Amino acid sequence: MSVSSRPNILMIYTGGTIGMKENPETKALEPFDFNHLLENVPKIKMLDFGIDSYQFEQPIDSSAMTPEHWAQIAKVIEDNYEKYDGFVVLHGTDTMAYTASALSFMLENLAKPVIITGSQLPIGEVRTDGEENLITALQIAAARDMNEEHIIREVAILFENYLWRGNRSTKRSADNFNAFKSNNYPELAQIGLGIAFNRDALWRCKNPERPLKVHYTMDRNVLYIDLFPGIKESVVRHMLSTPGIRGVVLKTFGAGNGPNDQWFIDAIKDTVDRGIVVVNITQCNNGSVHPFRYVTGLELAHAGVVSGHDLTSEAAITKLMYLLGLGLSPEEVKNYMEYSLCGEMTC
Ligand code: ASP
Repeated sequence: MSVSSRPNILMIYTGGTIGMKENPETKALEPFDFNHLLENVPKIKMLDFGIDSYQFEQPIDSSAMTPEHWAQIAKVIEDNYEKYDGFVVLHGTDTMAYTASALSFMLENLAKPVIITGSQLPIGEVRTDGEENLITALQIAAARDMNEEHIIREVAILFENYLWRGNRSTKRSADNFNAFKSNNYPELAQIGLGIAFNRDALWRCKNPERPLKVHYTMDRNVLYIDLFPGIKESVVRHMLSTPGIRGVVLKTFGAGNGPNDQWFIDAIKDTVDRGIVVVNITQCNNGSVHPFRYVTGLELAHAGVVSGHDLTSEAAITKLMYLLGLGLSPEEVKNYMEYSLCGEMTC
C-alpha cells in the first residue's frame, strides 16, 4: 500500500451497534450520535488522513433500513464523489449485506472504494470490535497502488479479518466477530498484521472512463418465497397473487429444485405469464442453481423462471428491485438477471 498524498475520506454514519449505547432503564442498545463514536476512537487522529463525516439525522438500527436510506447514502456519495478518495459507511450488521448489494447496483461505474463496516459490540465497550473495524475500513478506503490508483473500486464489507465484495456477502453470525462471509467468492483482502489484498478477486468496472451514474429508484414490489417440503398450494398462490407484485425470488432446494406437483409448476407458470419475473436461487449456503441437472429444476426453467446462478438472497432481491426500478420490460429484467452487472454472480 502506498499513499503519497494525504487521502481524504468521507465517513457516513447511519447507525448500528457500533455507535449504540445502553438505555439505562431498559438496558437495550439504542443508536447514539456520531460524536460519541468519535470520542471513543481517539486513534483516528493518528491516521494522517483528512476525514470528514456525514451522519443520518436520526441514526438507526439497520433493521429499520429502507430503499430511501440507500438512496440517501448514494446521494451523499454522488454529491461528494469528486471531493473524496473513498467512503466509509458505518452501518448496523443486520441488513449490511442488503445495503452493500443495493449500493453496488445503484452506483453504476463506481471507481472508488465504498467500504461498509460496523461492529458486534458498541464502540464504548472495552472489548469492542468497532475500533479496529473502523480504523481498518479507513485504511482500505485510502489505499492506493504503486500507480497511485485506488486499490478497491467497488462496494465492500470490512469485518474483523476480511474484506468481502458487498454483493457477495451474507451475515453469517449474530455472535462472532467474523460476522460476514462470501460463500461463493473469495475475500478481497485478509486483515492480519497487514492488509493483504487479493488482487485477482478485485472488481474493475467495465467502463472506467464513464462518470459515476446513480440510480435512485428501487422497486419494492418484490417478495421471497422460501420453499419447504409440504408448502401449501393456497400459501404459494396467495403470495403470488399479492397485488402489484412485479418480481419474485424463489428460494429452492439444492441445485434449484422445487416440488414436482403440477399445481406448483402451474402456479409459477401463471405468474410468469402475467409478466412477473421469477428468479431461482438456492437455499444452500454455497454453490449455484443448475436448472438442467434435475427434472424438477428443468420444469421451473420451462415455466419461464430465470436462474439466479450463485446470487446471495440479498443480491437477488436488491438486483430485482434495481432492474425493475429502471423501468425495463420483464424480458429485459430477465436478461439482466442472468448477467453479472458488477461482480455479483458467477455466470
Ligand atoms: N441491530 C443492529 C443493527 O443492525 C446489529 C448490529 O449493528 O450489529 O443495527
